[in-house]
Amino acid sequence: MTDLTTDINPRAGEFTEYRQAIRDLCRPFDAAYWIGVEHEGGYPEAFVRALTDAGWLAALIPAEYGGGGLGVTEASVILEEINRSGGNSGACHAQMYIMGTLLRHGSADQKRRYLPRIASGEWRLQAFAVTEPTTGTDTTQIKTVAERRGDTYVITGQKVWTSRVQHSDLMLLLARTTPAAEVARRGDGLSVFLIELGDAAQRGLTVRPIANMVNHETNEVFFDEVVVPAANLIGEEGRGFRYILDGMNAERILIAAECIGDGYWFTDRARRYARERVVFGRPIGQNQGVQFPIARAYANIRAADLMRYDAARRFDAGEPCGGEANLAKLLAADASWEAANVCLQTHGGFGFAAEYEVERKFRETRLYQVAPVSTNLILSYIGEHILGLPRSF
Ligand SMILES: Cc1cc2nc3c(=O)[nH]c(=O)nc-3n(C[C@H](O)[C@H](O)[C@H](O)COP(=O)(O)OP(=O)(O)OC[C@H]3O[C@@H](n4cnc5c(N)ncnc54)[C@H](O)[C@@H]3O)c2cc1C
Repeated sequence: MTDLTTDINPRAGEFTEYRQAIRDLCRPFDAAYWIGVEHEGGYPEAFVRALTDAGWLAALIPAEYGGGGLGVTEASVILEEINRSGGNSGACHAQMYIMGTLLRHGSADQKRRYLPRIASGEWRLQAFAVTEPTTGTDTTQIKTVAERRGDTYVITGQKVWTSRVQHSDLMLLLARTTPAAEVARRGDGLSVFLIELGDAAQRGLTVRPIANMVNHETNEVFFDEVVVPAANLIGEEGRGFRYILDGMNAERILIAAECIGDGYWFTDRARRYARERVVFGRPIGQNQGVQFPIARAYANIRAADLMRYDAARRFDAGEPCGGEANLAKLLAADASWEAANVCLQTHGGFGFAAEYEVERKFRETRLYQVAPVSTNLILSYIGEHILGLPRSF
């Protein structure tokens, strides 16, 4: 029988320097830590601070600005290992995937101003305000308005589900700069701004936390004529939706990697429990009714992982990877959710006991079916852009 010390991830021997460093960093942040933080409804500040101090959240910032200068593949391994260790990257992952917008479309001055401070950990760029209560997934129809007045923009409107605002210094905001009725294409007339949150809080920005199913710090954000310098517009006015779309591939790949980390965690926990738990005089894992669902969940994680590496490799090579990134996110989110369900079932009643962590990870991985992008939107991407089916919305 395979030894339980064998890593079920056959690629655990790749990127070992990063994997080992993240595993070592995550070790003190054990079950008791994550359960305690959730119990208090708190933010895993000590964990995020440790990751920041070790430079991991600056992985994608070029070395010339003090960052790690790594690719999306390495960044994905970092997030995978956090989730594989039992932790939750959701507390800080956005700094990785938001970064691309500033890197690719920010001005030289913006990069000089912000990147070194983010790389050093002095400032956090963890908040990304796109979703609005009345438009949901239909992003091009957002109603938050940024009106140009001299050297400033004045922002009015509302966002919802803006995560980590209370633990971030900077926020990327998508707002309308040209009325929807006046644009030629649905995606036109939207712009991206980099908001300094400390400053905005003094100028009409208010935040209302949303209690939710996981311990995820997320909020309604209200803008009451918030004035921001025009210098904080990223790229060209009116092209913001394209910039956001541009960043989606990295986001999809990184989230897929988190799901893969969860998936390995769930299947590993399930196999261990299935070997140890004896009922009817034998380990429950000896029953194929228990064994097969774990085997199937594992197979699906492995398959999704291949797609994740394919997408990441293409991304880092500068090749088009929209299809692969979307497929990776879809397959990985489905596989981690399946593995979560199987792991819970394998644990029977104990799966519901907080100290086993399964129920917490189960809730956390469920989110990936909905956010940052819901499964249906990925399926519609595949239908339209890969299979050439008619656009449905
Ligand atoms: C915990 C959490 C954190 C989040 N963090 C952020 C964040 O930091 N920043 C941010 O901007 N957003 C964030 N979101 C928002 C998230 O991205 C959205 O919830 C998600 O994109 C879905 O939008 P919606 O909730 O408005 O659903 P809706 O758009 O109302 O859709 C509801 C359901 O209908 C389906 N649906 C809608 N239209 C179609 C269609 N045409 N065809 C098929 N199915 C359709 C959707 O897939 C979904 O399942 C977060 C959400 C959660 C729950």
